Amino acid sequence: MASLPICPFEVARRREIVVRESALAKPGFAGCLVRGGDNFGILYSPHIQNEGFIRFTIAHELGHYFLDGHPDIIFRNGQSQHFSRMGFGKKESHEKEADFFASGLLMPEHLFRPAMVEAGVGFLAVQALSLLCRASLLATAIRYATYSDDPVAVIVSSGSVIDYCVSSDCMKGRSWRWNIGGERLPTQSSTLAFNQNPEDGVESTSTLDAWFEGAPAIEIVEHVTFLGSYGKTLTILHSEEALPDPDDDDAQDLPEDE
Ligand SMILES: [Zn+2]
Repeated sequence: MASLPICPFEVARRREIVVRESALAKPGFAGCLVRGGDNFGILYSPHIQNEGFIRFTIAHELGHYFLDGHPDIIFRNGQSQHFSRMGFGKKESHEKEADFFASGLLMPEHLFRPAMVEAGVGFLAVQALSLLCRASLLATAIRYATYSDDPVAVIVSSGSVIDYCVSSDCMKGRSWRWNIGGERLPTQSSTLAFNQNPEDGVESTSTLDAWFEGAPAIEIVEHVTFLGSYGKTLTILHSEEALPDPDDDDAQDLPEDE
């Protein structure tokens, strides 16, 4: 039976896919899948210093190799190379599918969930799981939010702007909004303080409604980390308090005369 960490190099080797560091050092280039006839290879950027990120890039390219329809899309028009860009944010659907495949390959649910039980909570859990899976902090944080039963939000930002956010299931389907319109960081957040001065605020406590308008004022821990590999900030919001049912949310929204 497989155990953590899963090695994407080994998965590639078993398929006779050659994996090499590329000589190409283009900004934003993470990796690519290369085809020559029936042979496939994977190249990754020499700029990537972070082991977890290299492994994720290889797993992502393996997604393009394994997923139905991907080779047709990425090698359309007779191209022999497919380049993948860095980061999770806004992407085409087949890029998102490859990211999702990569997370599932490196952190399969049936191994990741039991490991979460051992890992504790919040940022420390993400850090421990990232070491265990040898996956990047960001990819691990997203996986952690996906499977956590607690209120967890993983936010990537730069300056005052939120690039994207992945939250745990219990936070989904709520009638909340970002507290600052236009997807900006709350003015009092440690994340904003950190983005303005990286000496400031690494971990602090506040309440969920400081981030989301309409959310209950449950206590949250906000942990801020710099993602050196692509120059953005990772914030993990975590609470050990349970949220009220979404149905109770709706009840509050009903007009009083009903
Ligand atoms: Zn790709």
